[in-house]
Amino acid sequence: MKKFTFKVSFLLLSGMFALTANAQQTPKGSKKFGKPFIAASNYCGTVEYEEQLSQKNPERAKKAEFEEWIAPKVAEARAKRLQKNGNGTNEVVTIPMVFHVIHNGDAIGENENISDEQILSQIQVLNEDYRRAADTPGFNSNPVGADMEIEFCLAKRTPNGLPSNGIVRYNIGDDNGWQQEEVELIKAQTQWDPEKYLNIWIVEDIFIPGGYLAGYAQFPTQSGLEGLGGQTSTANTDGVALGARYVGSVNYYAEGTYDEVRNMGRSASHEIGHFFGLRHIWGDTGDCATADDYCDDTPTALNANYGCQIGIDSCPESEGLDMIENYMDYTDDVCLNTFTQDQKDRMQAVLANSPRRKNLPLADSCTPGTASLDNDGAIYLLPFSTNCSNDFSPVLSFANRGTNTITSAVINYMVDDAEAITYSWTGSLAPNEDARIELPAMGAQEGEHTFTVAIQSINGGADALASNNTRTNDFSFDPIEDELIFDTETVTITVQTDDAASEVTWLLMDSDQNTIAYGTGYEDTPGGVLDVQEVEVNSNSCYAFIIIDAGVDGIPEGYYSLETSDGTIIKEQALDDILYADFAQFGVNIVLGNKEIEKTLNNIVLYPNPANNILNIAVTNGMDTPDSYTIYNSLGQIMDNGIFTSSLQTLDITNYSNGVYFVKLGKDNQAKTLQFVKY
Ligand SMILES: [Zn+2]
Repeated sequence: MKKFTFKVSFLLLSGMFALTANAQQTPKGSKKFGKPFIAASNYCGTVEYEEQLSQKNPERAKKAEFEEWIAPKVAEARAKRLQKNGNGTNEVVTIPMVFHVIHNGDAIGENENISDEQILSQIQVLNEDYRRAADTPGFNSNPVGADMEIEFCLAKRTPNGLPSNGIVRYNIGDDNGWQQEEVELIKAQTQWDPEKYLNIWIVEDIFIPGGYLAGYAQFPTQSGLEGLGGQTSTANTDGVALGARYVGSVNYYAEGTYDEVRNMGRSASHEIGHFFGLRHIWGDTGDCATADDYCDDTPTALNANYGCQIGIDSCPESEGLDMIENYMDYTDDVCLNTFTQDQKDRMQAVLANSPRRKNLPLADSCTPGTASLDNDGAIYLLPFSTNCSNDFSPVLSFANRGTNTITSAVINYMVDDAEAITYSWTGSLAPNEDARIELPAMGAQEGEHTFTVAIQSINGGADALASNNTRTNDFSFDPIEDELIFDTETVTITVQTDDAASEVTWLLMDSDQNTIAYGTGYEDTPGGVLDVQEVEVNSNSCYAFIIIDAGVDGIPEGYYSLETSDGTIIKEQALDDILYADFAQFGVNIVLGNKEIEKTLNNIVLYPNPANNILNIAVTNGMDTPDSYTIYNSLGQIMDNGIFTSSLQTLDITNYSNGVYFVKLGKDNQAKTLQFVKY
């Protein structure tokens, strides 16, 4: 069976607000399959993320409900501030932070595995920006500018009280960046207690169609009760996700890896502003009459501002120029230096009242930990990638969270209720180190499945902490539908835009996650632009086509078509009514799996098991035989292989060392792996 992982639903679109046209970004960075996270901008995804959370959790407060709840509390915070000479509350709070660095094996300081120094420079920026610190880039002389009286510290203890430097690294990424839904899975597995830590996840690029995000934050809620009644809780994703190149400041750590214009740590200042309840200064309505960030001292604005242009007045009907220096705009880092007094009142109200947020200043997370825990392994599970392939290979991060060095571990894994397969790990992991484990490829029947992986023992004994030993991943294993498979060597892409051609961008991605063709940067032209491109495609591959209308006003008279070499239409789509984007997927020359073969592979038994001298591989139920077998040891080394000559293969394993072995059985393009123990 060939599987698609990028089945797309545009659920998000059903709740889209007025979207703002965003600056064009070249689509070269987009090379990842998966469900696109549709964001209106290529900078901050918080507004769209909040919409996604609301759909998953109907209990979560809608914008109006939240504002109704917070309004009297903001008034209270304001009264308190005005009592104390209008600015300081003289109650500086400190927020403990933990940084989870999700990398793909690069050395510390390389690429997305950013150095401790780069993270420390981020803390410095936050402490300047949130304190309006004199003689720093975070100072302003604006009469409405405010010292937020919030400081930040790096955690010095883990949730279990062990010593920590507040930076945790996980070797679990790949070099293709992240879909936002993958980031969500990682967040839930790695989060530290959100009552005690502001969790920051640093990942490589977070893709959206046509670009990537700097980051997104989870907005505060008014109720700690959401998640009851079977609803999805949002507590375990609370925090801020940031692209690695947006973290830290070139001013304080020049050797780091930075974005060109967002290189002074202000993406974190912005996202943490959302985390404490601030909205974008233009209010995200796309209409001056309704634009509202619930702060009177930030002039009304229509849209996000980019670059660093002063003197912009996007809502001339209302007083004041756009406050492009406000951290809650999208201007370049170098132009940002202002939070206002009204923004402060909102943050103080959230800090005093919002679940989780109100506990952060009380936590002892920045007090050095002194506890110890002998043998504690932890497992984190990378979301499966089954792009256009017959099988999947789960990837784990196996981490040492205890005090002892770990030299061996026994890990069990299974699909659904199948018998567990044992993986024996040996090596040397110092405390806080982790190892990346790629399990042998596995197959599955079409449909929904649960993959479970669990630590059985550490250093030959019990693991001291059970709570981080087991991970599960629900996944869908679906064959691509016959009608989406085409026999062709080329695909001809025809795109007809409307007059506003500059608003149109499209991409074709292959199953190696590369953009292999795209159209962007068209000039507005009466009658639109017609772009026709013929692209070579490969057999046994899957492709995804995405077209985006940044104007979000449809593409009247516009359409696209995808055709094979012989003129067969893969997809033809009028674009008059698209809301933001349209998506097509197809496979080329894929041989689909056969149910009979699957049955054959599922009716094989190994016996005896455990085995000492002789191992039998038998086909039960009188089915056809597999074609081949390959035997691997637990390190993945091939011990033996051969072809099936009858429904019973008898192998001599006398010379194998004692341990766990895997038998991979193949027939045509399908495979199944079984396990036996040699004693
Ligand atoms: Zn934002």
